[in-house]
Amino acid sequence: MDPWQLLSHHASDWGIPVDPATLDGFRRLYDLLLEGNRRANLTRITDEREAVVKHFLDSISVLRAVPDRQAPFRFIDVGAGPGFPGLPLLVMQRHWSGTMLEATRKKVDFMNEAIQALGLSGTALHGRAEEFGQDPAHRGAYDLVFARAVAELNVLSELCLPFLKPGGRFIAMKGANVDAEVAGAQKALKVLGGSIREIERFALPEGFGERALVVVEKVGPTPKGYPRRAGQPSAKPLC
Ligand code: SAH
Repeated sequence: MDPWQLLSHHASDWGIPVDPATLDGFRRLYDLLLEGNRRANLTRITDEREAVVKHFLDSISVLRAVPDRQAPFRFIDVGAGPGFPGLPLLVMQRHWSGTMLEATRKKVDFMNEAIQALGLSGTALHGRAEEFGQDPAHRGAYDLVFARAVAELNVLSELCLPFLKPGGRFIAMKGANVDAEVAGAQKALKVLGGSIREIERFALPEGFGERALVVVEKVGPTPKGYPRRAGQPSAKPLC
């Protein structure tokens, strides 16, 4: 099966229908990623089948954990790299707006070029979650926070929870072996005002791996002192 058909087929099995215009947007984004990769090292996943499954299908898999996806949500993708999951989500959810936060300049530049080229309603910002999480323009400003492959859940919670509105959801994209990480994040979540709502488990097709979405709800305010200054969350993790 053609990789894009595979994506479409699997997403629809998950209850996430992908229309032809969206699929076309994904293809254009993939072309931009290949072109961007020739200029700057953005991702090591370039094989079409692998990229379609591990970057695109994996990115939109977070929708499994978002009830009421028709709502006009505002999200932030923390440590977005070249734009995963944020860019595929903006292609798919045209009625959402998104901020991709990333510490490496060349990745931010790539994301803003892609946003322009595809006419997406989002922006990529250069900086660290520790700083933006204390900025009144971003703190408590988002309905959804996503993060893939950035840090362990206790550290990640400090970087992500400050961005959420009360009642908002932080969805951490993880591999299947997440139980120890979840247990090790309980204290941090309590301090930061988060509570685990569910863990959604599934497999990517064709042996590309097992996944777990850890869904954290913001049930209380995050104390002012968090996130701590840059580097502290990972140097002295809450645990
Ligand atoms: N989410 C992307 C990239 C993962 S790599 C993907 O799954 O493909 C992790 C990225 O997070 C790196 O690009 C790194 O620069 C960024 N990052 C790590 N810590 C960060 C922080 N504190 N603030 C902002 N970005 C961070």
